[in-house]
Amino acid sequence: MRRKKRYSNEMKLEFLSVPSNVAFARVAVAAFASQLDFTLAELEEIKVAVSEAVSNSIVHGYGNATNRFVKIHAALTADSVEIRVEDGGKGIENVDAALQPAFSTDADRLGLGFVFMQSFMDSLDVKTAPDQGTVVTMVKKLGAGMARTNPEQ
Ligand code: ATP
Ligand code: MG
Repeated sequence: MRRKKRYSNEMKLEFLSVPSNVAFARVAVAAFASQLDFTLAELEEIKVAVSEAVSNSIVHGYGNATNRFVKIHAALTADSVEIRVEDGGKGIENVDAALQPAFSTDADRLGLGFVFMQSFMDSLDVKTAPDQGTVVTMVKKLGAGMARTNPEQ
């Protein structure tokens, strides 16, 4: 028996860990997500979340090495996009600490990437293992922004 299809559409991207691919990834994922009826503001939020996750993979996961690969899997349901950003880098030592606002292992950074991902997306999940890499999975639901700001509607 054929399994019921969970997603209406899916895509995978794999690209080198060079900084210019942060912009490529955010545009590509937003273009894919725009198959659903997201507002422009919501698409901007998706772009920021993807940028933050991909730049974390490059900067922290791979320590700015430009010869590694970052993978993205994005999938649509009827009313949401699920985005997975994966690297095979050094992993996160303490995820609970990393998710805290203003926590950074780099003194020159603000430690706000995960804060943006959490506030702009409806869910965030981080799986990581030392020297194995990190997988960040985020879901954004259609119209959730409206519901959040306008509970009467
Ligand atoms: P900012 O995003 O504001 O430039 P930041 O990258 O340090 O600063 P976050 O994006 O919130 O802040 O990440 C918090 C910390 O989690 C990072 O400082 C880093 O130690 C760790 N981290 C995040 N993503 C990864 C990753 N893919 N691989 C390894 N470590 C990571
Ligand atoms: Mg960051």
